[in-house]
Amino acid sequence: MKWFDISDELLPKLRQLQEQDPPEKRMESEDAVMMFAGLGDPMYLTFDGRVLIVDMLEDVPPREAASFQEAVSAIIIGAKKRKCPELFDLLPMRGENAADCNECDKSGWQRIAETITIVCENCGGLGWK
Ligand SMILES: [Zn+2]
Repeated sequence: MKWFDISDELLPKLRQLQEQDPPEKRMESEDAVMMFAGLGDPMYLTFDGRVLIVDMLEDVPPREAASFQEAVSAIIIGAKKRKCPELFDLLPMRGENAADCNECDKSGWQRIAETITIVCENCGGLGWK
């Protein structure tokens, strides 16, 4: 499922990031740039606007993001981890009828331990839904 339109302005920036991806983290089956690889399953953005998630424990093909929230969370984490604020351009504008996310108090992040903050699963990090 295509979630995002990658603009001509963003494309060179993403190619640059892709070149910096560690060789062992490159996705061979797809033209994709790593958003995040650390705690949890690595997430990738393809150049045709899909989000793929690699199962670290099972030897299975990458799966597509299952929901808009999951796709959005890859972008938000990627913007932070890859230090690429341009990625935020991919995110949707808040709609008039959107409600504040209560799970994260609109911040988009949830603190799960003293020093560990994760992107909010409810809103995908947008702070609204
Ligand atoms: Zn939230």
